[in-house]
Order: sequence, then C-alpha cells, then structure tokens
Amino acid sequence: MRTICVVGTGYVGLVSGACLADFGNAVVCVDINQERIDTLRSGKVPFYEPALQELVARNTERGRLSFSTELAFAIKSSETIFICVGTPSLPTGEVDMSFVFSAAESIGRYMEDYKIIVNKSTVPVGTGVKVAEVIGGMRTELDFDIVSNPEFLREGSAIDDFMHPDRLVIGASSRRALEAMVDVYRPLYQNDVPMVLTDVESAEMIKYASNALLASKISFINEIAGICEAFGADVGAVARGMGLDERIGPRSLSAGAGYGGSCFPKDVTGLAATAASRGIDTPVIGAIDRSNVLQRQRMIAKLRDLVESFSNRTICILGLSFKPDTDDVREAPALEMISALLAEGAAVHAYDPVANDRAREQFSDLVCFEDPYQATAGADAVVLMTEWNEFRNIDLPRILAAVATPPRFLDCRNIYDPREMQDLGFEYVSIGRPRLLPGEPPQEDVSTWALSSRFSSLRS
Ligand code: NAD
Repeated sequence: MRTICVVGTGYVGLVSGACLADFGNAVVCVDINQERIDTLRSGKVPFYEPALQELVARNTERGRLSFSTELAFAIKSSETIFICVGTPSLPTGEVDMSFVFSAAESIGRYMEDYKIIVNKSTVPVGTGVKVAEVIGGMRTELDFDIVSNPEFLREGSAIDDFMHPDRLVIGASSRRALEAMVDVYRPLYQNDVPMVLTDVESAEMIKYASNALLASKISFINEIAGICEAFGADVGAVARGMGLDERIGPRSLSAGAGYGGSCFPKDVTGLAATAASRGIDTPVIGAIDRSNVLQRQRMIAKLRDLVESFSNRTICILGLSFKPDTDDVREAPALEMISALLAEGAAVHAYDPVANDRAREQFSDLVCFEDPYQATAGADAVVLMTEWNEFRNIDLPRILAAVATPPRFLDCRNIYDPREMQDLGFEYVSIGRPRLLPGEPPQEDVSTWALSSRFSSLRS
C-alpha cells in the first residue's frame, strides 16, 4: 500500500483518486475549492459520471479515500503526489499553466522528505522541467523525482477507461520513480495493460499528439461530410468503408457538430502554440481547430437554411453536454448554437438528461425542461446536439405531433434513419447524408437503398 495525494478533484483527479484507492492505496484528495470538498465529504460527487458515486462511497467507507483542503498535511503525509488540476486555454490559445505551477509551489513549500511528483494534468512538453524548477526554487535541499503520467480517460466512461486503459504511459526522471509508479499501478500491470515506460518529455508529447490526432480524425470526417453532401454521397457509408482499413480504424470517424469538451479544443491549440513557441511551423495541426470552428458554424448555417430566420422562432435543443453520459458542457457545440440563436432573437427550449443546470448557468434566457416531449412542444425546429441513448429510442411520432408545422429536424449526430424520418413527415436534415424531403418519391437506386442505417448495421 502506498500513500498518495491527489491535487485537484475534478473529473481526472476524483476518478484517479477513487480508482487508485480501489487498487488498495491510501489516497487523500485535496482541492482549493472548499464547497467541492464539503460535497465530497457529505458523500456526494459534484458532477455526473456513471458509477463514480458508488466507487467513492466504497473506498471512503473502507478508509482508503479521504478529502481535504489541507494541502500541507496531505503533501507531508504522502510519498506520491499526483497533480490533476486544470490546464485551460488562454485567449491566445496557449496553455494556462498557473494552476499547475501553483500546485507545484505548494508542494515545494510543504514537502519534508523524498516525493514523487506525478503530472497527470495535460501539459505542454517541457513542463516537467519547469515544475522541477518551481519546486527546487522553493528550497534547495528538496529531494524529489518528476513523473509524467498523462491520463486518457473519457468522461462518461471514465472509471472503465482508468481501470482498463489501452495503455499506461509513464515518463520518469529516475529509475526509482519509475519502479514506484509501476508499483502504484500494480493491478493494471498484473492485468497485462501495455505500459510505455519512457522519459518525461516523451510522455508529455504522447498525450498531446494522441489528442491532436483524434481531433484531426473528427475534423477530417466532418470535411468529408461536407463534400458528401455536395455530391449526394453518404458519409456513414464512406466512414465505414474507410474504417475497415486497419491502418485507419473505425473510431472517431462519426461526422457531427464538431468536437468539444475540456480537452480536444484546448489541447489542439495548446500543441500549436507549443510548436510556435519554438518557431516550428505546423500547418496540419493548425488546421484541425480551424476546421472544427467551421464545422460548428456550418451547423448554425444548416439550421438557418432550415428555418429561414432565427428571429421570433422557437428552437428546441436536445442534448447540451459535449458528449453523452456527462454533464460537462465545457466547449459543447450546443452552447455555440444556443448563443447564436439567442443573439438573433430566437426562443431556445432545451432538454438534456443531466446537463440542464450546467447549461442554464451560461444562459439566463435558456428554458430547460425535464422531459424531451415538453421541450419540443410548439418548436419551429428540433436540433439534436448530443447523441444520448435515450434519444435513439425517442417516440418520434409523439414529437412530430408536438412540434409546429412544418415539422423540421436537424440531426447533428446522424442518429436517425433519413428514410424513416421522411416517412414520418419530418423535414429532416443530417450531416453528410443526402437530404430527403417529405413526400419526395424514393429513388430505388443503390445509393438510396444504402441510406438505410439499419441496412448498414446489419452488415456490420
Ligand atoms: P477540472 O477543471 O474538472 O478540475 C480541476 C480541479 O483542480 C478543480 O476542482 C480545481 O478547484 C482544482 N484545483 C485547481 N488548482 C488547485 C490547487 N492549486 N490545489 C488544489 N486543487 C486545485 O479539470 P479536469 O477536467 O479534471 O482536468 C484536469 C486535467 O486533466 C487537465 O489538464 C485536463 O486537460 C486533463 N484531462 C482531462 C480529461 C477529462 O476528460 N476531463 C481527460 C484526460 C486529461
């Protein structure tokens, strides 16, 4: 059993702390946010993440997991300290490192004996050296090692991702620290999770390079969707045909409203800014964010085409979080859509299974409902922004009866079958798929036949 301090109790810190406690380690999670710690101490998790509440409760009851704002005590009593604080974007696109350096200062101020300082926050390459300088600058006699252990969990499946990762990346400045880290992660090591043991700089780069490549796949398929629309091709079939090539793979090839969340947007611009800081020209990386910004604007333009003008329209947004199974609305495409609608005089009604409150914090004029059918009542258009499972099985005839005439539907996640939506009577628009108008006779050619997503899934 090792003693661990986790600094920051957000999505990464809390999930990591609870999972490391579940591995049998003694973990104290600290945060500067008193309200957050009070919530955790009262047995509640301050955000929505499936199964996290139970994991936190189990490990708290067994005495392996505790919460505190007392950074000094937590640092003194732990051998290994994980930094899991936020690294948001500055307006310039550079990474705001103030939370990481502030945590490093506290560690340098309070540590008394040897510590392993593990950066789990996503940080630009070269941060390990800077964190060592900050800590070493506090007092010269300090004995510590720096480790980079980037986190790859995804909100909505965070515990499973932490417990069953594709790989574990550990970059360390000494063999002693590397061995200690392998010990911390012993259960994963024993379960044959591939481990990439490397230097600190390479580990830092692995995280940024991975996120930038994943984001580029999304931007790429979104651009392909635009070309498909212009020529009557179906991006679903195109993505499937591409993804079966093992060199490409099927994941992150779903055309949609553009990527969002607290990672891809800031990590892509952060990587470009890191390259620029050394005068390195990175046209491919620079284009990923530009393409994503365009895709979000395209969604707004599509809706404008559908309803002609936003002024005095009522638009219903289904799904507010940046992805299903989370209440995180940071950089969610839905927010940009809502902002444009409100600015142009629309009334915006919305429903999300868990993110209503978070979205309402951003827009006082947003009217949220506890039920999708109430939210769609009287709407001039329904816009699906997040592919929650409950929307896949929604009662579409009931929605058809509830909305204004003509019934218009913009599906920014391609979760419905265009032919079925047409048959029901919707004016249905999706991403990168031919548009079918109500009453338009079906064309019995191969491409229309292939439009059926049911057919595609039968073949998969
Ligand atoms: P978050 O904003 O949800 O949480 C950060 C927490 O750190 C907050 O509770 C804040 O109060 C606390 N904090 C800030 N400064 C502190 C300090 N000096 N001492 C103690 N607590 C402090 O952030 P997050 O989403 O958990 O992300 C954390 C890091 O992990 C970021 O670098 C992010 O890029 C990376 N990451 C996030 C995800 C994700 O899905 N959210 C996945 C992988 C990696």
